Amino acid sequence: MNSFSPTEDTIAAIATAVSPGQGSIAVIRISGSSSIEISKTITHIPGIQNWSTHKVLYGHVTEANQKKYIDEVLILIMKGPRSFTGEDVVEIHCHGGIIAVQKILERILENPNIRRADPGEFSQRAVLNGRLSLTQAESISELISARSRKAAELAMNGIEGNIQTKIQSIRQRLLDQLTEIEARIDFEEDLPHLEEEKVKNEIILIRTDINELIDNAKRGLWVRSGLKIALIGKPNVGKSSLMNRLSKKEKAIVTDLPGTTRDLLESEIVLEGIPVTFIDTAGIRETENEIEQIGISRTQEALKRTDLIILIFDYSKGWTKEDESILKKMPTSIPVLFVGNKSDLKDNHSFEKDTKNILGEENLVIISAKTGKGENDLLNSLVKSCGSSKIYGLDIALNERQLDLAKSAKESLKNIDKVFEEKLPWDFWTIDLREAINYLGELTGDDLTESLLDNIFSKFCIGK
Ligand code: GDP
Repeated sequence: MNSFSPTEDTIAAIATAVSPGQGSIAVIRISGSSSIEISKTITHIPGIQNWSTHKVLYGHVTEANQKKYIDEVLILIMKGPRSFTGEDVVEIHCHGGIIAVQKILERILENPNIRRADPGEFSQRAVLNGRLSLTQAESISELISARSRKAAELAMNGIEGNIQTKIQSIRQRLLDQLTEIEARIDFEEDLPHLEEEKVKNEIILIRTDINELIDNAKRGLWVRSGLKIALIGKPNVGKSSLMNRLSKKEKAIVTDLPGTTRDLLESEIVLEGIPVTFIDTAGIRETENEIEQIGISRTQEALKRTDLIILIFDYSKGWTKEDESILKKMPTSIPVLFVGNKSDLKDNHSFEKDTKNILGEENLVIISAKTGKGENDLLNSLVKSCGSSKIYGLDIALNERQLDLAKSAKESLKNIDKVFEEKLPWDFWTIDLREAINYLGELTGDDLTESLLDNIFSKFCIGK
């Protein structure tokens, strides 16, 4: 665990969403050594009720002059270490909305021994006091922001400690290798010979495990934040019509004039549990028209955050040179699915064969946005292209911070190949191993500086 200790300040914040007319109750959380004392000074508790731990008290929060009540409340007392933060925690359950809850918080903050909590500060204290691991705290934050059931399931797995256990076991395997090597450096004559080949093979296995986590993280990111698919193609090929059909909403303007979809329009559907956003783009082509130019440069911008491109062409006219030149402008890093639209205008199977020969059977779907023919084929191809069928078995998904560190660890271990091939001495192995171990330690929070921890928790919201 980390060696630094949390501050002594007692902190308070509203822990529930605050909105007028919403939520019949709200919760204010207080944590720190003065939390119980402060709660006593602002409340009136009738009859004989003890301020003992893990009990609920009934009473009122009073104005400073003790004459008027601000709200009727329930008070939950959890003495440390049996609390979320590990410190003495009091939760005041009051009525929802905004006024009462804010007045109570102000009343609490009148006391000089308490201050408003910083974003994520309760979770940070929970981590510092060993109540939660860093990845568990991050998973709680992800559960709160989950937009799909699968995202919530992944977050819950993280809260259960799956990420922590997995990374710690990989890190331990690296530590075992490092220990073996260091023992050879210090006491070579006294120990049996250590084969480089064996160490290298174990490191390759570890690298494969890290790689799997990196691949899964990508799918996890789709589950959490959804996929973006850009609809690209010449003007008038049916981009807006297709998007309307897929989203079943009349959001884009459909017209016969080329180049009328000048803005980016977005529409969301949920495909096999993944939220998918379609971006309908202005037709990409050389143009003098200023407004259209703006749309086109936005298309280029939008492509930077796109996971898949659907390149639509007019199937009744076939794959043209213009379509080919649009394809050439697409970034090669993004997968492309070809969609031949307006099949209702053409019923010539040999034509389909020709197009398949040019574009490849795998990546081509023939549809009619007008009649809906081929729509299911398109959805099936999307599921396949997006890898959304692979999310079912997914149980661990690193967040972006964790993913960056896993990638760095993998990079460090890559150097081992060179060290092995060039038959470099054991000291060289230890440099890369140590580096990878440190990255994984930063991921789990076992090896973190205080400022890094502050940085992570500052991204949480107030009251967490
Ligand atoms: P965009 O410029 O690529 O967004 O194209 P639009 O969606 O605005 O469509 C251009 C024209 O083609 C409109 O008149 C649509 O009604 C028509 N259109 C779109 N899809 C189909 C289709 O599958 N079959 C036929 N026959 N017409 C279509």
